[in-house]
Parts: sequence; C-alpha cells; structure tokens
Amino acid sequence: MTGNICAPAPVEIKTTLIDCPTCEKKTEFLCEYYEWYGGEITCLNCGDSWNEEGRAPRPFERGWREKSISRAKATLEREAQNEKR
Ligand SMILES: [Zn+2]
Repeated sequence: MTGNICAPAPVEIKTTLIDCPTCEKKTEFLCEYYEWYGGEITCLNCGDSWNEEGRAPRPFERGWREKSISRAKATLEREAQNEKR
C-alpha cells in the first residue's frame, strides 16, 4: 500500500496504559484504530509509535518527539470535542 495521500480517519480513538519499551515504564498511549489496516499506538510520553509491524520509523527531524506527542494530544482533544456533541 503506497502512495496513499489521504489517510483514512481512525474509527476508534482511546487511551490506554502500556509498558513503553522506549520509556521503560507504564505510560499513557493514544490508540487509533483504522478500518483497513489495524491500529497504531503512540506513547504520550516519548512520542514513539507502533503499528502491526512493530515500531514506526522515527522521522529524521529535530523535535519530532514533541511534534508526535502534540499531534497525539490534539487528536485526543478533537475526539473529546466530538464526544460532547
Ligand atoms: Zn514512551
């Protein structure tokens, strides 16, 4: 599956506590489930993410952890807003 510009919207978003291999402790994760290709989880502490195939590649970019964490938190906030409606 390559060249997919439009990412499908997650069908389910939630948080859960998982032992993060990077943080080496239990941390809060954002879990996003997609209809076609399973789920992706993102550690809200270090920003690493994992999918069915293992750890997602880390972007070769300064500050990607902060970006990843703020993206995950923004997703959660959006979801919380949706639930209020
Ligand atoms: Zn972590």
